[in-house]
Order: sequence, then structure tokens, then C-alpha cells
Amino acid sequence: SQRVVIIGAGIVGTNLADELVSRGWKDITVVEQGPLSLPGGSTSHAPGLVFQTNPSKTMTLLAKYTVEKMQSLEKDGQNCYNQLGGLEIATTPERLQELKRKHGYAQSWGIEAHLISPEECLKKYPLLNKDMVLGGLHIPSDGLALAARATQLLIEKTRNAGVQYREHTLVTGIEQADGHVTGVTTNNGSIPADLVVSCAGFWGVEIGAMIGLKVPLLPLGHQYVKTTAVPSLVGREVNKNINAMNAELPILRHQDQDLYYREHGEQFGIGYYGHRPMPVVASSLGVTPKHVDEKNMPSRLDFTPEDFEPAWKATKELLPVLRETEIADGFNGIFSFTPDGGSVVGQAPNLDGFWVAEAVWVTHSAGVARAVAETLTEGRSSIDISECELSRFEEVQLSPEYVSETSQQNFVEIYDIIHPLAPKESPRNLRVSPFHARQREQGAFFLEVGGWERPHWYEANAELVKTLPEEWKPVDRDAWSSKFYSPIAAAEAWKTRNAVAMYDMTTFHRFEVSGPGAVHLLQRLTTSDVSKQPGTITHTLLVNSHGGVLSDIFVSRLENDLFQIGANTATDLAYLAREGRHQTTHTPGQWALVHDITGGTCCLGLWGPRARDVIQDVSSDDFSNKGLPYMGVKKTSIAGVPVTMFRKSFVGEYGWEIQTTPEYGQRLWDLLWQSGKTHGLVAAGRAAFNGLRIEKGLRASGSDMNSEYNPWEAGVTYAIQMDKKDEYVGKAALDQLSRKSPSKRLRCLTVDDGRSIVMGKEPVFYNGKAAGYVTSAAFGYTVRKPVAYAWLPSQVREGDAIEIEYFSTKIQATVTKDPLYDAQDRRLRG
Ligand code: FAD
Repeated sequence: SQRVVIIGAGIVGTNLADELVSRGWKDITVVEQGPLSLPGGSTSHAPGLVFQTNPSKTMTLLAKYTVEKMQSLEKDGQNCYNQLGGLEIATTPERLQELKRKHGYAQSWGIEAHLISPEECLKKYPLLNKDMVLGGLHIPSDGLALAARATQLLIEKTRNAGVQYREHTLVTGIEQADGHVTGVTTNNGSIPADLVVSCAGFWGVEIGAMIGLKVPLLPLGHQYVKTTAVPSLVGREVNKNINAMNAELPILRHQDQDLYYREHGEQFGIGYYGHRPMPVVASSLGVTPKHVDEKNMPSRLDFTPEDFEPAWKATKELLPVLRETEIADGFNGIFSFTPDGGSVVGQAPNLDGFWVAEAVWVTHSAGVARAVAETLTEGRSSIDISECELSRFEEVQLSPEYVSETSQQNFVEIYDIIHPLAPKESPRNLRVSPFHARQREQGAFFLEVGGWERPHWYEANAELVKTLPEEWKPVDRDAWSSKFYSPIAAAEAWKTRNAVAMYDMTTFHRFEVSGPGAVHLLQRLTTSDVSKQPGTITHTLLVNSHGGVLSDIFVSRLENDLFQIGANTATDLAYLAREGRHQTTHTPGQWALVHDITGGTCCLGLWGPRARDVIQDVSSDDFSNKGLPYMGVKKTSIAGVPVTMFRKSFVGEYGWEIQTTPEYGQRLWDLLWQSGKTHGLVAAGRAAFNGLRIEKGLRASGSDMNSEYNPWEAGVTYAIQMDKKDEYVGKAALDQLSRKSPSKRLRCLTVDDGRSIVMGKEPVFYNGKAAGYVTSAAFGYTVRKPVAYAWLPSQVREGDAIEIEYFSTKIQATVTKDPLYDAQDRRLRG
């Protein structure tokens, strides 16, 4: 096994040591700047509430594993988890609705959960003010993790298994040679290593800076107080063993006031997120002293009572018994927040062998540690952790200004009710395509993605809604699914299917792969043969060594040694770039350079049965099926504008993605616009696009499929060439998988009443039992029904009736053969 150095003996670092050692790795050293008995990081004062359910399946499963692990860590007959249950209460009608949605997530991700009445809330938690509670969500397996004790047990257990611990040892530098980590420098000398994993919590930014890596997290203060003893509880019989943690009531969340509660014997602990964000620079806290205790540790700042005043008032309203108490002790504890609220886990893009696992809650700690250990030892995590991937951020999202503003916003919104389509309000307009001015003239409604402004529909098309044929008229929606939606999308979809529409595709990731080793690199990483003639496009997959789907990409061969990749995420770029670098190092004659051309290019999708009419008016080039067949690519010009034409489509219609460089962007738009006038051209947005994509059956990497699923399960085997001669990552696994029948399938569902909209992540019921969950959903404009994709057991067959639960209402739907639109690709082929 490799020599591993783990920086930080908090709940993440010690769990990682354990997960590695239990997989047979032997040479592991954990370096901690503080004393091991109480290192002084966030774990040292964490009250340990574990609410597992989250809109993210990944985070929920990481939490579920953490619960199992905490229960397995035992000493003197007592483990590290008190399964008291979790209770989230609603004191507003909006929250009551939100709890229904959350109940849906719990069922989707396999967590037992119950929506309960105000009376049942009071039964479970008699101290609640009965006049305030409208209902609750109860999760029996939630509870309290004794994080500091778990850390001590993990240290003891892993030490016995041979892990070395160095306390009072400050990591001051990361050593490297030839682009690979070789060890760490500390105040007590160097420690050699093949792999270094930073589990430094909110010190992660400082550790990252040692190698020039921007770690997008922001340490923030968060208030926690303990009350004096509640007089009526003094002397009551509580279970005083360590694992019970002097608590009997469920852990409690009062999210309408940004509050949570737990018992500490006769006292109460209160956590508050409603105060102003309090950013901290970790390096300003100085070196951790030799002596750390509960009241003196670097992660504990002085209490600011004025910030707590609204919380104290709200607490006394909700829990009247606390009116008889005072605040006995309070502090502003520090932990990490990130731009999207997720953890940051993965390998540094600029230094091989350097990993991070930071911005991780106690709740997810063991799950994250297992995911990292599995990735290091087996090459993949059994739970897909792409949502936590360190390299998921765009360059603009790594700036200190962006990280600071968005992480503070995440703190403010942590318990807010957030619509899945709700964009950030700020920062906005960080990236705009060259079509932006024209889009504004057309009344574009923009949502934000990766810093980009992306039109969802154009108000200029509003009048078209009135002229829609009866069968294209948009159906009424409920209040929730009407947010960030406009019926104009139906008109834009109609135009795409019946005339022609123009879509801004600039926000999609585009990379170039060049050099004499370009073919070899792409042959080695993709599931299809991409060594075709220049001028061809291949839709293919990136899979891991177990055959799990990492991404689906479009590989266009522009020249012998020049390819363009249409990809999904910044993580795709980091993967290809790293592999390109390795190939160049090991076989310099076969060098391959991967670089991002997204911002240096712009792109319009021109699609619809009249697309060719539009293009023929502005170019004399041959755009017939002979001149540029389906899945062909060529460089040409349109009225003098140099362009690359890609004959492909995400919406299932004839046409091209037309790419140029930004200086020509506006001219390209204007030329097509001018020419399109007589052919019924409209500008169309992402809302129409999504509906058209889904009814055409195109899967979205990330939401519909990820590394937990193989191509047979996901229904994307068309992107694999089983007789491909060259070796590639995952080939052996795919060979084996091709002989197995899948146990689950991504299925297309259509809603029977033709109008009930679902949004994604809802649970799906088969024979009355929760059997799967919706991955993505949209109204299928052409098929005139809401359409959803869902993961379901493979015994569920086409034609079977199922139910989708939306805000506690069951919607009848049918498993339907897909794609629903143009299964023979006639429209695409023209
Ligand atoms: P840490 O525990 O901070 O460990 C990192 C370690 O790295 C530290 O011990 C540090 O000394 C060491 N280190 C850093 N730099 C160096 C260096 N250069 N050299 C050597 N060592 C170094 N989470 C929940 O899930 N539930 C809760 O109820 C909850 N409540 C919270 C309440 C408060 C008030 C706060 C502040 C946080 C709370 N959290 C909660 C969050 C949780 O505490 C943290 O997310 C978690 O403990 C982080 O664990 P960690 O191991 O990543 O970091």
C-alpha cells in the first residue's frame, strides 16, 4: 500500500485513517497541530446533531453511513450514537408544505420518515408551545453523534492497527517532485508520503495555499449556547450513560427561526443560524496552543450576546419552560461553508497525490471518509460524490470574492425554503455570452449556472402563446411548479418543432484536445471508437474502472490531431487534463494537450424543420445531408463569419450547433435573426429545451445518471462500441456487465392526467411501496404530458402503473417506452 499522510485529527481525518486501515493500508500517519485528546478544531465542540435527510441523495447516503459507523464504534458497552430521532417542526404553512417535500426526499433516499400532526409533535416533544406548531417531520433514525468521543475511539482503534499519530505537529508545507506529492514539512521535520489528504477542516484554505490550490470554503462563526438548568427538569431520571449524552427528547429543528435544539441533561443546547455572517480567516487564529480545553480552543470565539437576542426571544416562545432559564454559556464556533453548500472532496487538479476532504459536517464525516478511502484503494466510491468534487467549480467561482459572498449567503439561507430552480441573486452577470445584449432586447428571463447568465425564455415570445393551436396550449400549474416558469416555453417548443428556434449553447463546456497523442488519449478514456475520419462526431461515455458512468461527451474530430469535446462539467475537464498530462509525461512523443475553450468560443443551436432555409439564405455552402451529414462537423463561414458547424441536436430536430469566437458572436446572431424572419425563427430558452430533450429521451449526466449506475441500467449503451479493439478505462468491467441483467433501470414515466407536474427527486411508488425516485422531469410539449425519468427496479416493466408522490399527493403515471419522440431519429437525420 502507499504511504499516506492525513492532515488533521478531527472527525474526518480519524475516520479516514480507520477506513484506510480497514481496507488493508498500513503506512498511515495522522498529523495534528493540537493535542490529540482535544485537538481544538470544529469537532472538539460539535454538539453532534445528525439530521440525515437532505435534498441531495449523496449527502443523505453519506449521513446514513455515518449513523451506522457511529453505532459501530463501541467501548465499555456504549457506542457513539444516541438514536433519539429527529423532529423538524413547522410554524408556518409554507414550512408545513416544505416538510412534505422533505418527507418525499426521505422516501426517495430510503430513510424512514413520518409527517406528524401537531398533537403527535407534542407527544414526542411535550415542551413545545402547542399554539405554535402546525405539524412536523419525524425521522426515527436521526440522533446525536458523540463526535469528540468517536474521534478518541477511532484514534485508539487505528493506533492499535498501526496508524501513527503526531500531535502538536504543525504542517507548514507540502513537498513535491515532478508534479507529484512527496511528503509534508512540519515544525518537527519532514514526513515522506505518496499521498497526502488534507482533512484540516476550516484551515483547508491555508493548506491548499501551500500548493497554490484554491480551496473554496469560508470559515464562519456560528452561535451555540447552553442554558442554565430547567427547574422542572432538575432531579428527573435521565439516562446518564455516556452514549445517551444526557438526552431523551428527539433533536429538534425550528427552521422558521433558524434554530435547533438538543438536551444536555437538565440544560438545553441551542444553535442559531439567524445572525449576521461572521467570516473568519483561519490563519489569524494563530498556532493552536499546547493546552486546549472546552472553553479555550482555536475554533471557539467569544460569544456576542446581542447577535443571539432574536434567537433567545424565539426560543422562549417555542419552548416556554426555557423562560425560567438564563444563558449559562455561549460561544461563536467556527466551521466551513462553501459556495454551493456542499463539501469539497477530491484530488487537487494541480498536484497528483494531494487530496482534500473538507467542509464536511459530523453528519457526513464517516460517509465522506469511506468515499475517499474507496476512491484511493479501489478507484471509485460506491456512493457517487460528484456533487462534492473539489474540481466542480468554475474558475470564476474560485475567486476569494465569490467564495466569500456565496458562502455567507449559504449561511444565511441554510434553513430557508429554496426552490430547485431559484438562482442566486448575487453575484450575477459574471459571465455573459456575446448574444447577451440581443437576448435582453428580446426580454430574456435569465437564470444562473456556473456564473453564466442563461436565458430560460424570452418575453418577446409572449404573444405567440395566444396563437398556439389548442393541443399545444400550456396546462395550468400549481404555485410551486409555476415558480421560475413561464407558459412562453410552450410557444418556444412549438416553434422548434414546427418552424425553427435559436438556442444559446455558449454555457456548455467545450474543450480542445490536441497533439500527436490526442487520438490515443481519447481512445483510452472513452467507450467508443473515436479514431474516425476528421469531420465526424461521436457521442460516447467516460466510465470508471467499474463501468459506472462518469459523463457522456461528444467527441468531434476536427483534424487528425485536433478534437473538440462537448462535456458536462468542470470535473470532466479536470479528468481529461490530468490524464493528458500523465500521458505527456510518460510518453512525450504521444503528448496531448487538453484545454478549455468555453469562454473563447460561443455557440448557437439552430434547430427545427426550417433550419436549413435559414442557413441557406446566409451561406452558399452545402448544408444538405451530403454536404454535412448527421453527426458531421465542418469549418465554414456564414456571410463572412468563420464558424464550425456541428450537425447534432439536443432537442431532437434537424439543425446545427454553430460555433464561432466571441468577437463575431453578435454578428452571427444578427445574420441568423435577419434571415430567420421569413422562416418563423424565434429565440428559445432552457425551459423549452428541457422539455424537448426529455421527450427525445436524452439523459442528463449528473441528474439522470452518475457513477453509481452502469450504461445498461441508464439506457445509454448506444454510446459504447462493444467491439472496440483499443483498451480503455472500464473496458473489462463493461464486458462483464454486458453479460449481466441490470437490477435497476432508468425508466421513462408519463403522467396519466396530462397535467400534474413534478420537478425531480420525488419518490416513486410501485405496488404501493417506495421503489425509486425521479431524476429529471419536464412537460413534454409534443407528447402533451408531463414526462419524468426515474430509477426503478428492473422488474418494473413498460406499461406498469406507478405513482409519483408530490407534496404528499400521489400522482398516477405509467412506465412508457422511450424515447417518446422520433424514436427512429428521422427528424434529426432530415
Ligand atoms: P476539524 O474538527 O476542525 O479538524 C481539523 C483538524 O485539522 C483540526 O484538529 C486542526 O487542528 C487540524 N489542522 C488544521 N491545520 C493543520 C496544520 N497545518 N497542521 C496540523 N494540523 C492541522 N455538524 C454536525 O453534523 N452536526 C452538528 O450539530 C453540528 N453543530 C455544530 C455547531 C457548531 C457551533 C459548530 C462550529 C459546528 C457544528 N457542526 C456540526 C459542524 C462540525 O463540527 C464540523 O463540520 C466538523 O466537526 C468538521 O470536522 P473536521 O474533521 O473536518 O474538522
